Amino acid sequence: MLRIPFVDLLGQYNSIKPEIDKAIEKVIGETAFIGGRYVKEFEEAFATLYGVKHVISCANGTDSLYIIMKMLGIGQGDEVITVANSWISSSETITQTGAKPVFIDIDPVYGSINEKKIEEKITAHTKAIIAVHLQGQMCAIDDVKRICEKHHIHLIEDCAQSHLSSMNGIKAGLRGIASSFSFYPGKNLGAYGDAGCIITNNDELANQFRMFANHGALKKHHHLIEGINSRLDGLQAAILSAKLPYLQSWTESRISNAGLYNKYLSGVSEIRIPEVRPDCVHTFHLYMIRAQRRDELMSFLKQKGIDTAVHYPTALPNLPAYAYLSHKPSDFPEATTAQNEILSLPMYPELSEEQIKYVSDSIYAFYQTTN
Ligand SMILES: *Cc1c(COP(=O)(O)O)cnc(C)c1O
Repeated sequence: MLRIPFVDLLGQYNSIKPEIDKAIEKVIGETAFIGGRYVKEFEEAFATLYGVKHVISCANGTDSLYIIMKMLGIGQGDEVITVANSWISSSETITQTGAKPVFIDIDPVYGSINEKKIEEKITAHTKAIIAVHLQGQMCAIDDVKRICEKHHIHLIEDCAQSHLSSMNGIKAGLRGIASSFSFYPGKNLGAYGDAGCIITNNDELANQFRMFANHGALKKHHHLIEGINSRLDGLQAAILSAKLPYLQSWTESRISNAGLYNKYLSGVSEIRIPEVRPDCVHTFHLYMIRAQRRDELMSFLKQKGIDTAVHYPTALPNLPAYAYLSHKPSDFPEATTAQNEILSLPMYPELSEEQIKYVSDSIYAFYQTTN
């Protein structure tokens, strides 16, 4: 029996061990733990990759969303729209500012925000939309952007799951006023701890983001406002810089691994494989299927040595954390259906064809033997 973990961070480390070890050693040797040249070097490299004027690194991909909204002046009395199925960062940061999260149901095919349902939720209080690009595939961002322009509200992109994803040749993160990235270890570009950043082309906002993330000061002891402490540390920055040159080829491996899953799973009628939007590059942070009898399939695969995961088992408005909003599961029928059917299969660049075939054959066997 093969043993297939959901992600294989050790495998990736071993493939570039000398570079990572050297990067870590340099930071420690220079005691460049907070701030300093490694942080600056990573910000510059990421800015070059994205062709943006500003990269503001911070502690994680949750703070980055919070910092963006705070500096856009979002707070008490405001509403911010986001998607019903995402990681809770996409909505808890709205609440953190004092504003109210307004959820939109998902698109039944792609699982991202249903752009056709957005306008009916816009009110005089709506200040922004957080467009989340889930699984590695962009939401209908051009439509969302048009809606934002029409109603004079801010577009913020949550790119935590969509490094290098694109639509019509334009990368995720380049359409919003500011966009948020996470470098959580399991993300397509991951640090060895928490890390995140904001990208923007807006000079004034860039300054404010940087100031707010550093106790409200751009110069030590010159606190123009009260801020927070949200920094990328030197070790994480150096690790990210060492990994960044591999991001493109790792992404290509993910895409070709997804192609292999598609091929080996094509005969299984009880599941739906992920669909790629026209004109989109899906970077497969997750390879998410929709499966009949999902929970049974999950435990069957576990017995076969295969780890899978659910992103996410409860749609945001159905969580106890949002009971105070008094939503009913039937208010979000697509997200509520999806939460019981979605299943993320092991997906990483280091996955071999043999492993993908084993996972696929096991799924096939489940429906053969248990029908
Ligand atoms: C991972 C993730 C975040 C948060 O990132 P952290 O770095 O873990 O704080 C935000 N939004 C989405 C969609 C994510 O997947």
